[in-house]
Amino acid sequence: MAAYDTDNIFAKILRGEIPSQRVYEDEAVIAFMDVMPQGPGHTLVVPKAPSRNLLDADPSIFGPLFTVVQKVALAVKKAFGADGVTILQFNEPASGQTVYHLHVHVIPRFDGIPLKPHTGGMEKPEVLAESAEKIRAALAAR
Ligand code: AMP
Repeated sequence: MAAYDTDNIFAKILRGEIPSQRVYEDEAVIAFMDVMPQGPGHTLVVPKAPSRNLLDADPSIFGPLFTVVQKVALAVKKAFGADGVTILQFNEPASGQTVYHLHVHVIPRFDGIPLKPHTGGMEKPEVLAESAEKIRAALAAR
């Protein structure tokens, strides 16, 4: 497996070098809107510790990471009035991984509505900002 690349796009987001629509941050984890959402409210939960994906991660991160995945899943379900939530996580190119810093996809789901394609079209910045605001409000109301 290739080594962790400190110039991957999520490392740049973590360092504040490129913008993101953040909805959550603690000492170990951040969450922000996916710019090519597979549905409304598609959020990425990202540990701050560097690892390429789940395969090379220090297992001590999984507790804090999935604690936030659950918080965000509950918040997006409430914020978007979703019927369910899909959690996705990809490892290496064969699986569909495109950004090589561990992350978990949290996607609100609605009865009878299929997911849009993975890394499909870019969403408008104002839509992402509005989604982020709704999720932050749902997180704050817990
Ligand atoms: P994966 O294929 O699991 O590595 O997914 C990477 C995800 O990151 C895709 O869903 C992309 O839409 C998303 N993505 C790529 N660049 C950015 C970015 N700058 N900000 C937020 N999400 C991004």
